Amino acid sequence: MSPRHARYDMIFLGGGCATMSLLVRLLRSGQFSNHRFLIIDRDRKMANDRTWCFWEQETGYFEEVVHRQWDQLQFYSPVFSSMLQLKGYAYKMIRGIDFYAYCQEVLTHSGQVEWVEASITNVSCSGDQLALQGTSSTGASFSWTLSASHVFNSIYQPSTSSPRQVDLLQHFKGWIIETAEPVFDPQQATLMDFRVDQKVGTTFVYVMPFSDRRALVEYTLFTADLLDPAAYEQGLRHYIEEQLGVKNFTIVEDEFGIIPMTTQRFSFYKDGLFNLGTAGGQTKGSSGYTFQFIQKQSDRIAACLIQARPLQELKADPPRFHFYDRVLLHVLAKGYWPGHKVFARLFARNQASQIFRFLDNETSLSEELAIISSLPTWPFLKAATGALRH
Ligand SMILES: Cc1cc2nc3c(=O)[nH]c(=O)nc-3n(C[C@H](O)[C@H](O)[C@H](O)COP(=O)(O)OP(=O)(O)OC[C@H]3O[C@@H](n4cnc5c(N)ncnc54)[C@H](O)[C@@H]3O)c2cc1C
Repeated sequence: MSPRHARYDMIFLGGGCATMSLLVRLLRSGQFSNHRFLIIDRDRKMANDRTWCFWEQETGYFEEVVHRQWDQLQFYSPVFSSMLQLKGYAYKMIRGIDFYAYCQEVLTHSGQVEWVEASITNVSCSGDQLALQGTSSTGASFSWTLSASHVFNSIYQPSTSSPRQVDLLQHFKGWIIETAEPVFDPQQATLMDFRVDQKVGTTFVYVMPFSDRRALVEYTLFTADLLDPAAYEQGLRHYIEEQLGVKNFTIVEDEFGIIPMTTQRFSFYKDGLFNLGTAGGQTKGSSGYTFQFIQKQSDRIAACLIQARPLQELKADPPRFHFYDRVLLHVLAKGYWPGHKVFARLFARNQASQIFRFLDNETSLSEELAIISSLPTWPFLKAATGALRH
């Protein structure tokens, strides 16, 4: 199916989390009721293709679709384990399927949004002219010329243009399991459990219980390469049986995901496109957390558009936060200090709420210095030198 019109007010390439987060805000503002929007995505976004977890102090924009939240978080490692002091933060979970359905309801109800299912292979944008090539949902090739005052892109293209770029992958396999006996405390989630084999690199497990017999258990690695599929299952099974002591369980759902952790430089505006979400650098290089950065970016873009200010003026987070990410990525990727020790040290010597603010790019310079001084000097100095060269 081709777009019905040649001209739209806004075109969105990719219709996932970032596009929906922004578009719902624009539609609800009531300021764009005469606008026509086009979304092109290769998928209809009807499946539960991911689960977002994040920490938050306030009521969030998508609070209505929060599936579960935990006010108690555990951290475990061989050298330090503790219940984290959250100081008003809650750890929240949103299921992809609930988020998509909630947003699509707003999009459909507006009558202003056209969704075209197609896979894009080539994009070029000049002025308000957009040339797109790709394959439609029927498998036919297309070449479309469209125009719009704003074109937003959330289709992520990994780049390896710089030889000094450092890349890791956050890859994880999660199972929702049901146990025969009550084993979980539904009030308490595990943010990171490093008491697992660290042979291939930084490896930990999340545990997010829904009830005393049901939980999402996620085996997660920060490494350069993916594992064989069987290795994730082995890691999960070993953790569930040995660490949780559960021998009798059934797998109800599973999830696999890869999130880029990179020192790649992203531009919000490039070649006529406004880049959103992961494609616009909203994935935190050192942690992979993205959902809350997307929400903050969507707030800023929506405010700018509502006030009819040029989007190019939009301010990014201070560059020092990208530098910290690059340093931590260098430490992990080059093996200057083991990841489990880095996180154990961070949580042992700082309040969890400070670490959350730091990872959210919300700390002041003096708070950052306090956090940095809790880390060992040499590995981080070596990494900082590498990050500066980058
Ligand atoms: C399984 C998984 C779990 C995650 N969990 C968390 C989490 O717990 N917390 C957190 O903060 N972050 C998490 N993330 C990272 C991040 O929040 C998500 O990836 C988030 O969806 C990023 O939003 P986005 O809009 O940038 O990309 P997406 O939501 O992936 O949207 C991009 C869209 O582009 C479409 N697309 C891609 N290529 C093409 C193409 N060639 N043509 C047409 N359409 C295309 C896709 O179908 C998709 O709908 C997770 C990521 C994954 C993959």
